[in-house]
Amino acid sequence: METNLTCSLSPERVEKVRSEFPVLNQMINGSPLIYLDNAATTQKPLRVTKCITQYYNGYNSNVHRGVHQLSQLATIAYEESREKIAGFIHAAHKHEVIYTKGTTDGINMVAYAFNKKFLAVGDTVMISAMEHHANIVPWQIYGEEKEIRLKVIPINEHGELDMDAFSAMLDEKVKLVSVTYVSNTLGTVNPIKDIIRIAHQHGIPVLIDAAQAIAHIAIDVQELDVDFLVFSGHKMYGPTGIGVLYAKEKWLEQMPPYQGGGDMIKQVTFEKTTYNTLPYKFEAGTPSISAAIGLGAAIDYLQDFGIEELSAYEHELTNYTISKLLQVDGLRLIGSAKAHAGSISFIMNGHHNSDIGELLNQQGIAVRTGHHCTQPLMKIFNIRGTVRASLAIYNTHQEIDSFLGGLNKALEILRG
Ligand code: PLP
Repeated sequence: METNLTCSLSPERVEKVRSEFPVLNQMINGSPLIYLDNAATTQKPLRVTKCITQYYNGYNSNVHRGVHQLSQLATIAYEESREKIAGFIHAAHKHEVIYTKGTTDGINMVAYAFNKKFLAVGDTVMISAMEHHANIVPWQIYGEEKEIRLKVIPINEHGELDMDAFSAMLDEKVKLVSVTYVSNTLGTVNPIKDIIRIAHQHGIPVLIDAAQAIAHIAIDVQELDVDFLVFSGHKMYGPTGIGVLYAKEKWLEQMPPYQGGGDMIKQVTFEKTTYNTLPYKFEAGTPSISAAIGLGAAIDYLQDFGIEELSAYEHELTNYTISKLLQVDGLRLIGSAKAHAGSISFIMNGHHNSDIGELLNQQGIAVRTGHHCTQPLMKIFNIRGTVRASLAIYNTHQEIDSFLGGLNKALEILRG
């Protein structure tokens, strides 16, 4: 992450942060847990889990349909969360915030709508070489009938987008640019402001996959002028099963609903159905009420912490981790972009990633190994997978030192 802020949290602050995440305080295989798999999912602070328990124990009820008190309370909490999300990303209207199951669900909704309504046979959707499968496969599934092609923005050896190629590849066939803000595998922070500006100069809308950005970088959808933004609650200290599709009102009004059922209708007859107003047109069936309320609590957590301060701390910790890793003999960093977030991938000469992951786990250290749902990217780097350490606000410099110690120990064992 490129920022001029430098920030180190005081030991008291770190202790306070960690005390809010009880899951961190446990032993794994005889060693204190060091959780470095935050790009897969983050841990949840007490205020999130408490607020979910409060809902179930205090006012569990369905939303929008009840006149009784519990339903009214559930509806208020559910809609308050939507308002918090809208405020967090600075959406112009709260009805531009659609609850989804997560990032994958959000991209599928847009892919469905685009193929149904806005794409013609032979059109193109532009993605990048570092996309998660969630931003590749939906376009292929829904685009099959109209033979929609994917154009792929190339990257350099550091894992940075080739912006000249991007500009050159924009033509009248491209109907949407859909790229990730931060690569879950490489850690690259993409220049999305430029991407949006350039695409808009050609009249092309832009979807940003913010799965790996939302908990780490302040996002203002109006300032970005982004058309669609998707993210998952569970990667931002919130629950699983909930996410957000933000879209500009003008798009949501034109998009067909993704699913039919309760809550998304105005009137149903056997002949014809008219749809509900925004955002409900896109929220068929009973939603994940507890998770939506929990996501509101996660947003409170992030806002109370201060996203700028959090960003600066993670930036410093990322640089620290990378500088330490680069001292390890035989280690190759996969993804060395100048603008680098806290997802850090590497491979070790002559050693299997899964062996390293397993030996780290034996020391209580949780990392992820494999292709990280970016198989085409692995092909570009000509590797089968990486070891990935991904950071969050509760990780500490001491943990990184222990991780490095654990890695060296694993290598000693592997080297015999
Ligand atoms: N996009 C990116 C960049 C991701 O890192 C992930 C998950 O790791 C996804 C999309 C999919 O997110 P989810 O599984 O929460 O839908």
